[in-house]
Amino acid sequence: MHHDTSSASDKEPPSSRLLNSLKEFRSAGRGFWSDVSDSDWNDWTWQLKHRITTLEQLQRLMPTLTPEEYAGTTLANQKLALAFTPYFFNLIDPADENCPIRWQVIPRLEETYTASWEMADPCGEDSHSPVPGLVHRYPDRVLMLVTDRCASYCRYCTRSRLVSNATGYDFHPEFDRQIEYIRRSPEVRDVLLSGGDPLLFSDDKLDHLLSRLRAIPHVEFLRIGTRIPVFLPQRITPAFCAMLRKYHPLFISIHSNHPRELTTEVRDALGRLADAGIPLGNQSVLLRHVNDDPQVMKAQVQKLLMCRVKPYYIYQCDLISGSAHLRTSVRQGLEVMEKLRGHTTGYAVPQYVIDAPGGGGKVPVAPDYVLSRNADRVVIRNYEGEIFEYPEAEDGTPLTPAPREIGEPELVGKD
Ligand code: SF4
Repeated sequence: MHHDTSSASDKEPPSSRLLNSLKEFRSAGRGFWSDVSDSDWNDWTWQLKHRITTLEQLQRLMPTLTPEEYAGTTLANQKLALAFTPYFFNLIDPADENCPIRWQVIPRLEETYTASWEMADPCGEDSHSPVPGLVHRYPDRVLMLVTDRCASYCRYCTRSRLVSNATGYDFHPEFDRQIEYIRRSPEVRDVLLSGGDPLLFSDDKLDHLLSRLRAIPHVEFLRIGTRIPVFLPQRITPAFCAMLRKYHPLFISIHSNHPRELTTEVRDALGRLADAGIPLGNQSVLLRHVNDDPQVMKAQVQKLLMCRVKPYYIYQCDLISGSAHLRTSVRQGLEVMEKLRGHTTGYAVPQYVIDAPGGGGKVPVAPDYVLSRNADRVVIRNYEGEIFEYPEAEDGTPLTPAPREIGEPELVGKD
């Protein structure tokens, strides 16, 4: 049985109208920067040079700062720097205190509230670092932190201990030692470059780093984790894409949390990366006030596919100090997942994971579709709540005919 999802008509329910409006592609526009030339505006170095980094600049652009935002911004540079590009600033709705973009990048007083279970290094990265800036937590892959800078800073950043250097962490990756460690570790077949944001490096610098990694015979696969296509799509130039394509297989994971971030500029930038043959995945962090709503997340994952990006992970927000105001419950996360699986394209459904506090790695969490299981049968339910039994086979033996009372399992539509 197949479900037709193509009905857009006058009878459209309000929920579909919301979904469709969230999925519309719009440009971020020029906002306050209407007199800047096209060549400057589209130049990523201009965008970086003109970032908003002080309370005074922010107040000028946004006199509607709330008391919580004002107080948070006063204190921000002791914890995680305030910064965003003019391009990304234009996605904020200054008239809406609940703007989902605003909650992600404007500091708030609540960042100074901490709970006893919160941590500065919630994923235990520092304790899994054999050399500075290299995290070796899983057997066959490493995370290489290459910089502590980002184009803009996310207030819930799990690496806020080091990114932007606001806490004086003084992060200095040592590329020679990192590369030497990988060279001497034949089990490492996969290297993920992250930070901070590796795409802040110049083309030449990243080219050099990637070529050194590619020269290691046992490194099969390279990945880059970046939020630049979302914060600074101007960075994704044709020359940059041409450089990256020398290093296949190379995958890129972007980080986008809300469909409003997927502008025409971002769609075009992602298209350039996809045209360079780079498989793209997205990581979202589940955030209160931003995307912990099934309808918003559905628009987000569908819009990502339209941008040629596979929704890869939804992360439960890490227990980073001062992030309680942005964390949502695992129960709500499961509710969001429940509304995705089966209700939309399988490719659009990411995996929901909790990065186990203290360094246990990613653990998938999912609604329970297996209701019970024993040696003879598995009882499952589908996304519509219908219950089915599936006869179990012993490992390696062919299935025996199902006992009478089980009968034929009813087939449900598969994507
Ligand atoms: S872009 Fe990534 S590393 Fe940078 S502040 Fe945001 S979450 Fe942290």
